[in-house]
Amino acid sequence: MDVYAADSRRYDSMRYRRSGKSGLKLPEISLGLWHNFGGFDAAENGREILLRAFDRGITHFDLANNYGPPPGSAESFFGSMMERDLRPYRDELVVSTKAGYGMWAGPYGDWGSRKYLVSSCEQSLRRMKLEYVDVFYHHRPDPETPLEETMGALDYLVRSGKALYAGISNYGPEDTKRAARILREMGTPCLIHQARYSMLDRRVESGLLSALAEEGIGGIWFSPLAQGLLSDRYLSGSVPPGSRASKAVFLKPERLTPAMVKKLNALNDFARDRGESLAGLAIKWLLGKPETTSVLVGASSVAQLDENLRALEGAPLAEGELSVIEKMLGLPE
Ligand code: NDP
Repeated sequence: MDVYAADSRRYDSMRYRRSGKSGLKLPEISLGLWHNFGGFDAAENGREILLRAFDRGITHFDLANNYGPPPGSAESFFGSMMERDLRPYRDELVVSTKAGYGMWAGPYGDWGSRKYLVSSCEQSLRRMKLEYVDVFYHHRPDPETPLEETMGALDYLVRSGKALYAGISNYGPEDTKRAARILREMGTPCLIHQARYSMLDRRVESGLLSALAEEGIGGIWFSPLAQGLLSDRYLSGSVPPGSRASKAVFLKPERLTPAMVKKLNALNDFARDRGESLAGLAIKWLLGKPETTSVLVGASSVAQLDENLRALEGAPLAEGELSVIEKMLGLPE
């Protein structure tokens, strides 16, 4: 079995941004393990992607209790990586996980009770072979559990040393402000908010971004490539075998309308003129937002990850370029 030694130049080119008003810095690009690291996909390909990421300065890996499939298997894969390769680097890593979606049978394996969050965090630690996670998130708001109870569970997890920081995900602007206030009063500030944000989904611009700025919470954006649509994979209008859209579960092939394909091609032509890929442009566009702490990408190969990391190179988008992009984003889908 080959023994991993991290690249000695791993901190040479990555930049790190402070998460809101906290002491924690995250890499501008983080890696998520939602897809491609579960029981059916992981093994050697997953290992290569993860180690390549760390070798390029990606110190932050994002998980959740239910990532797989099957649920839990992405965390178990990460645990095998801890045992095999990453244990010596634990203090260089920021590992996050979440609970909030359905995970186990019965009334205690879903949503936002203290019972669910605390048990789930303990399960995650066992699967990932960790003593603590760096960030523990509540994955989605629970309309039935008092927010005080859910935030109290996050506060408890931090105080008990099972997590270093608390985060929330998929909360709307008003719930975000309430959650931040409750956490602040308990003495455990909300470190970060994880939300969907890309050139093709800008709902966070209607209130959430300003709420984060007001509360001093960092922003980390999931599905920055709209699950792969913002790449060269779908430019021909067909669905390539093995792609996420070919599985038709989370990314529906119906999204690939003729109008969408036209829009993606217009963006791609613009990216090419800058000597960049569409994926790189989509990430660079997010990195230009002042509310961005980190852009949380997925990848099914080392080549995709490397391409995404090229977003860190070259000049940022100038005002004039942003206006041109804005017009293209207004095209119908
Ligand atoms: P992306 O939008 O980055 O999509 C990743 C997918 O796009 C890859 O799996 C791959 O798909 C394709 N892709 C990536 N790079 C390239 C490239 N350079 N060229 C061509 N195709 C590319 O993000 P995800 O939707 O995967 O989300 C990222 C992370 O965010 C997740 O892993 C998870 O950690 C987090 N997340 C959090 C959520 C929450 O509720 N908090 C919800 C969803 C995600 P293919 O398989 O087709 O090759």
